[in-house]
Amino acid sequence: MIHRSSAACRHGRGGRSSAGRFGAGPGVVPIFGYENLVRMSEHCCDAMARQVAWRCAGHEDPFDCPDALVMFDARFQEYGLIIHDGGTSVIGIAFCPWCGSRLPDSQRDRWFEELERRGIDPWEDEIPDEYRDGRWLRS
Ligand SMILES: [Zn+2]
Ligand SMILES: [Zn+2]
Repeated sequence: MIHRSSAACRHGRGGRSSAGRFGAGPGVVPIFGYENLVRMSEHCCDAMARQVAWRCAGHEDPFDCPDALVMFDARFQEYGLIIHDGGTSVIGIAFCPWCGSRLPDSQRDRWFEELERRGIDPWEDEIPDEYRDGRWLRS
């Protein structure tokens, strides 16, 4: 006298819970640093902001994505064109290819100086969170 199938119940519960977990934000690919880049929105024009924030669902790494053109390193405030040769090469640019604005000066030297002043070795030590994106420039 079996009136219900416990196997069917388990399947039902499992399906619901996984749908709930992965249901939020379809098509959104969580990438480290992405939200910071968008929130800062300090780029010269919409075209540049769009290119910098470009992420596609098919390629987690912009170097793998033929549609990704520009790389912005928030730590150093450096812009570069992605060279799609299979590696991770970037050609630095000093002017925006879309609006022609002069891009900010590189803060790469300052970044290393600031870390050194705090006694942090960027090759050996843990980099503090604010030095992983552009936040350190505003402190
Ligand atoms: Zn892609
Ligand atoms: Zn621009």
